Amino acid sequence: MSYGCKSAKNSSQTRLALGTVCKISLYEKGSDELYEKLFERVSQIENLMSTTINESEISRLNEASRNALLENSSVSDFPISFETYSVLEEALQIARMSNGAFDPSIGALVKLWNINSLTLTDDGTYGPEILPSKEQIERAINLVDYKAVDLHEKDGRYFVSLKKSGLQIELGGIAKGYAADELVKILRENDVKKALIDLGGNIYAYGAKDVEGEFAQPWKIGIKNPFQNDHGAMMVVSCVDKSVVTSGAYERFFMVAGKRYHHILDPKSGYPSQSDLESVSIISENSMLSDSLSTTCFVMGFDKASEFMKNFEDVKYIFIKSDGSIESNCSDELKILEG
Ligand code: ADP
Ligand code: MG
Repeated sequence: MSYGCKSAKNSSQTRLALGTVCKISLYEKGSDELYEKLFERVSQIENLMSTTINESEISRLNEASRNALLENSSVSDFPISFETYSVLEEALQIARMSNGAFDPSIGALVKLWNINSLTLTDDGTYGPEILPSKEQIERAINLVDYKAVDLHEKDGRYFVSLKKSGLQIELGGIAKGYAADELVKILRENDVKKALIDLGGNIYAYGAKDVEGEFAQPWKIGIKNPFQNDHGAMMVVSCVDKSVVTSGAYERFFMVAGKRYHHILDPKSGYPSQSDLESVSIISENSMLSDSLSTTCFVMGFDKASEFMKNFEDVKYIFIKSDGSIESNCSDELKILEG
């Protein structure tokens, strides 16, 4: 039972969902009902798109595809919800634009590396893990091909066909962004003016932190220092009504024989991507876009990613390179912290 000042400004609730820690902070209207509605929406999305929940739509699709492989056939006209359809459509669009650096058909590789099921050990790392063999990686790479994923609509129903036997879908690189956008819709519907959504580092700074007269005071979102163990903030981004999403090698990884294996895979090599980027943050109004682009740029590496980002005019990026330098198209919004 809670009581006291109901109009108390800040409140927050944290739950585990989408394979991560989800924190929602309502700066007004923070009723239990509204929190319930928001987290319920997150779990609806999880129940459609997760690959760790066996009964999710994507898990059932993947199971059908594994069964088809046993019979040397493939999945055709598998019915899916409009929601899953639209997220997959967006993911395929980014896959095409990035020439497969981002690839939602990467499921077999993600499963092989056991990336989304790693458990945290006492020393704060993930693992211990056994590395997949070269043969296993070869086999999994052969199941990855976004061009073999075909979406179609018929009479108001939505379907996916997988033209490659055994292909596995994985939306882990984009679903958190979609969920954040959906939460923002609920906030708008409920006339909430300011809130912070943090779905495992996938942030939506909704509204303005404060309004003083005509001036909107921006939120200050910290970007972690990828080189420090405690990941204190390296810089601060000021923003109003924007999603800030970061992909980095330090988020989820395990160590084998002193080498770090992280959770963002290069679909071409089948191994954790290796580039000159240590972390990528993408800032835009569309969290689903920010989410997919941060993963994409991270895989591409600096040169390709800077070129690729020219396709997205209003989208801001912050690349932290392995040599410690920072490249960004944010001008006034970015403050780099000393030390
Ligand atoms: P995080 O989940 O830490 O926010 P990302 O948004 O960068 O990080 O997504 C990483 C997740 O995306 C992985 O856990 C995996 O499920 C999936 N994934 C890994 N590599 C790729 C890739 N090249 N293309 C699409 N999805 C990927
Ligand atoms: Mg992402």
